[in-house]
Amino acid sequence: MPQLDELPPLIRQRVKALDAEIARLGALVAAGNRRVARYLELNTLEREILVAEYPPPPKRSRRWRFSSEFSGAAGIDTDGTLINEATYLPRPYTERLPCPDEMVWPHVEATWAARYAEQKATRLLGARKAVKTRAQRREKLIHETAARIVRDEQTGPANSCIICGKALDDPVSIARGIGSECWQHILAWITRNTDAAARAA
Ligand SMILES: [Zn+2]
Repeated sequence: MPQLDELPPLIRQRVKALDAEIARLGALVAAGNRRVARYLELNTLEREILVAEYPPPPKRSRRWRFSSEFSGAAGIDTDGTLINEATYLPRPYTERLPCPDEMVWPHVEATWAARYAEQKATRLLGARKAVKTRAQRREKLIHETAARIVRDEQTGPANSCIICGKALDDPVSIARGIGSECWQHILAWITRNTDAAARAA
């Protein structure tokens, strides 16, 4: 993993901008603003990726575009002018001015890296959220099913587990509609809650 001061100046600039944003959002979250928590998480992850993976850009070419998953374009056009439609970095060459490659390339490179980090952070957060949502849904289902069992309601028979959807093959599982693994979670829930009820009484 490269140290911060080993990164190209434009990347360091981007990291510093992210640091400022992380500090600002962190203060807001600490003050109780929950709405910006996601942006704080996103920026923190983006910074991490940018520093850790600082991705080497594709080979220099006269014309280069981000792959289709990126909406912006950055590269050097056939007439030698810079294309930089991404918005992260200072853009001294925003207009299509002719300028030498060695002036342009660091910007192309930095834009690419910033884009890469942002896209990856967004994807990772999305995946993490999906895992959390699935876990929450399962937890809720276990809670509801356990409550039904406590009320002596039928949960089976079923050919697939009503909690996780796995196919059931043994007669006991089929009869209750719950696989043995999920059944353990149900029992744990019932134990926890009857204990809590007993303590409350
Ligand atoms: Zn199951």
